[in-house]
Amino acid sequence: MSERKGRRGVILGPIGLAIAAVAALFLFSEDVRRETKLRAGEAVGNLALEMVQGRISETGEMERSADLINVPIEARQLTDHVYQARGVANVHLISTDEGHVVFDTGLSIQAAKQRRVLEEMVPARPVTHVIISHSHADHGGGTPFWTDRGTEIVTHREFPEEQRYLKELEPYFHSRNRTLFPFMPEEPPTLPLIAYGGVEPTILVGDEPLAFEQGGVRFEVLPTPGAEGADNISLWLPDSKVLLSGDFFGPLFPQFPNIFTMRGEKVRKPIEYIRSLDQIIALEPEIIIPSHNNPIEGRERIRADLIRMRDAVQYVHDATVRGMNDGKTVHELMAEIALPPELELRQIHGRVSWAVKSIWEYYATWFHFDSTAELYPVPPDDAYQIIAELAGTDALVDRARQEFDEGHPIRAIQLLDVALAAGEMHVAGLETRLRVLESLLENAQAGLRNAYEIDWLHSRIRLTQEKLALAQRVDRP
Ligand SMILES: [Zn+2]
Repeated sequence: MSERKGRRGVILGPIGLAIAAVAALFLFSEDVRRETKLRAGEAVGNLALEMVQGRISETGEMERSADLINVPIEARQLTDHVYQARGVANVHLISTDEGHVVFDTGLSIQAAKQRRVLEEMVPARPVTHVIISHSHADHGGGTPFWTDRGTEIVTHREFPEEQRYLKELEPYFHSRNRTLFPFMPEEPPTLPLIAYGGVEPTILVGDEPLAFEQGGVRFEVLPTPGAEGADNISLWLPDSKVLLSGDFFGPLFPQFPNIFTMRGEKVRKPIEYIRSLDQIIALEPEIIIPSHNNPIEGRERIRADLIRMRDAVQYVHDATVRGMNDGKTVHELMAEIALPPELELRQIHGRVSWAVKSIWEYYATWFHFDSTAELYPVPPDDAYQIIAELAGTDALVDRARQEFDEGHPIRAIQLLDVALAAGEMHVAGLETRLRVLESLLENAQAGLRNAYEIDWLHSRIRLTQEKLALAQRVDRP
């Protein structure tokens, strides 16, 4: 209890600072405003990170996400002009004699510190441009910490619309994300400076690249839509052949991309993604600097990997389209389509079978032409309870166990969905579901190691464990 009070006390500090920052925006000189904003940001950020990190070490499960949150906030020089502040997402500062250009502003709770460490490394100059690779919170969240008076904010033409729907649906997506990543705070942050949204671009990039020169460095902002959203842009530095790619490739390079993510969000056009990759291949980059993890170097290696990614997505796209025209079902195609050995890629983030389903639904949309019931507001599991009553819950659970033992875990899951519809607190049913989920998790970890699949299975295991504990208590009072 006293710890809780203490924490509330700690929270008031940052809130006070945030209020002071807002007041300072209106009352004081630019230097004072900036310094106050940075201090408030650092204080709020330290507190938020402390809470987030606490949660990670408690669950101890989200190894990969935990890794990103534990990336130290430190600055390093990557090329002649490019400096990077590492963090959950990296922030880049391209330093020229006539001012700095910033590419991606990071997570709001880390941004103030990221700006601080960068400014300790490079001479203080005005920030002329802030370029935001796309509308996700980990790439544009820190924007208020970088925009001084007169700073241009450059985004893709589609950025305002992407930001709008992500903000409008924030509670919905937050709860989905939290299911996958339970270390996230219960509610989306609402404090000024760290809440999502509100970025107002001053320059929009559409069909054509935006090229400019500053302090002897040439910049080209390239529209590269189709990857993490319709609003992806990359920054190309033609003199040094460096590509700052934001999230165009996702957090790993190379890998099979997430065409649509499991956590939701709007469609990503697969062909647009392939065209954007074509455009990047033609540049022949020598260094790729993504906004997560480390830079990738070597023209030949980069070229080979880019071509493999493009060809893999094209292959999966064409196979799906062919199968649709041949009258195959989405499930047949998900089971059937696999990358040929020469196009093999890691599927830790994206996954071929999910890409098949994504592409299928991108073209065919919501009505799968399978059951008349799909047309009406009645869920597929509406009849489960009746089936379970007719078949008997015990019999269904026994059969599920048998199917699992014979190597059909998904059929077991389906039967358990029916069985537990009639008796949510069926101890043997819940025990069997837990066993099947644990074995799926083991297979996922030993197989593709797909992070989304692993995170989802963890969430279902937690849920089943909770229900089982409850059911056992009811069973043996
Ligand atoms: Zn990201």
